[in-house]
Amino acid sequence: MKLYNTLSRSIEDFKPIDENLVKIYTCGPTVYNYAHIGNLRTYIHEDVLEKTLRYIGYNVKRVMNITDVGHLESDADEGEDKMLKGAKRENKTVWEIAQHYTDAFFSDIEKLNVKKADVVAKATDYINDYIKFIQVLEEKGYTYIANGNVYFDVTKAKDYTKLSGMDLDQLRIASRDDVSVDVHKKSPQDFVLWFTKSKFENQAMKWDSPWGVGYPGWHIECSVISLKNLGEQMDIHCGGVDHIPVHHTNEIAQTESYTGKPWVKYWWHGEFLIDNDGKMSKSSGEFLTLSLLEKKGFNPLSYRYFVLNSHYRKQLAFSFDSLASAENAYFKFKNRVKNIKDNADEDTANVKLSLAVEEYKEEFKCCLEDDLNTANAITILFEMLKAENLNNNEKIKLVEDFDSVLSLDLLKEDTEEKNVHDEMAEYIEEMIQKRQEAKKNKNYQLADAIRDELLEKGIMLEDTRQGVNWKKIN
Ligand code: AMP
Ligand code: ZN
Repeated sequence: MKLYNTLSRSIEDFKPIDENLVKIYTCGPTVYNYAHIGNLRTYIHEDVLEKTLRYIGYNVKRVMNITDVGHLESDADEGEDKMLKGAKRENKTVWEIAQHYTDAFFSDIEKLNVKKADVVAKATDYINDYIKFIQVLEEKGYTYIANGNVYFDVTKAKDYTKLSGMDLDQLRIASRDDVSVDVHKKSPQDFVLWFTKSKFENQAMKWDSPWGVGYPGWHIECSVISLKNLGEQMDIHCGGVDHIPVHHTNEIAQTESYTGKPWVKYWWHGEFLIDNDGKMSKSSGEFLTLSLLEKKGFNPLSYRYFVLNSHYRKQLAFSFDSLASAENAYFKFKNRVKNIKDNADEDTANVKLSLAVEEYKEEFKCCLEDDLNTANAITILFEMLKAENLNNNEKIKLVEDFDSVLSLDLLKEDTEEKNVHDEMAEYIEEMIQKRQEAKKNKNYQLADAIRDELLEKGIMLEDTRQGVNWKKIN
């Protein structure tokens, strides 16, 4: 399998440290608010990564943290405490906030068929481990205390900028939000391992420590939780691209200083989902959640389908129009599968499979092994459904097999398939068929007339690699 590694800035052959178990760590959500659909995009692609590894035969252990400690707005230890902000906003305790949004997160990912990590670790359950970790860094001379806080001195770390490839000046810009700079740091990139002095009154989550009552810095949880659950080295560490210059850079600095060993073999980063204003952000008031998509009548799996049609290393622009078009394509897909299933034998358990089945499986696997090219994998699925050298039983077997990675519930008949059973949808499908035939017969006048007729009815056709999609316009 080929996988892009941020550390080497190149596509590499994936070779796990131990062939018997692939170890993966995923930075989990900060639970002071709902996840936005951008966060969820990253979790969907990470899910495909894990399921692909399992599909090609590896055993996988994946660990994810839940950031339930109040953290500051900026990655670089500055700004307001996010958890406390959530608690004030909703008149709840910080613990209630954390529990509420943790539950909401798991409910979202379940709706998106994203598998839960094998180990889910709450940051607040590891406080004593952070203290021990910091004590070791302290003994090894990597820390200093200023104004009551314990800082990590990045000038002592080996190759601090290796992940981002940026020089320190660029990193300084990347780590500076529009918040005030901490004057107690020796270098601007230094980060806090343990806070005892908070700029904010009523810091709600506090624990005793050798440095005084306080709370851990943010980056430390991922280092310690992964060391405890995956050991000193792991294969893949995942997260969104925003984490490269600060969070992941700092995780590496402190972990490798602690163990004295290289830590992560492959760094995997998902690109951003963007909206009209550029970056999708939680702290900027209104934002797009899965519940909002559902309220607008979308099926969560249409969003998964939308995401899987993009490559994880490319930015993806979100609009309700493109989601609507993905939803149409998704239901069309399901409908096609349903027709095939209705015409297959009841019992496909003992179907004798032809060579063509293996060939399709191989092609599907190749797309995924090509740095997780999910869009091409879906194209193979689509071509397979149309294949003349496969019977319906074989097709259903293959759908089942491919869906173990894509997780689009292609074989599940849900009652809410409004688009499929909608009379209008049936009519549109018929017209699309007619137009395709006209095009095949080079009768472009008729093809255009059909397109225009639909346009007059407010239906726009879109020719894509996977066939014709349609969407309603005003
Ligand atoms: P957070 O809860 O803010 O720590 O983010 C959870 C995950 O979502 C992290 O891996 C982030 O890197 C990722 N992420 C944040 N914003 C976006 C976005 N707009 N698109 C895709 N992933 C994102
Ligand atoms: Zn992390």
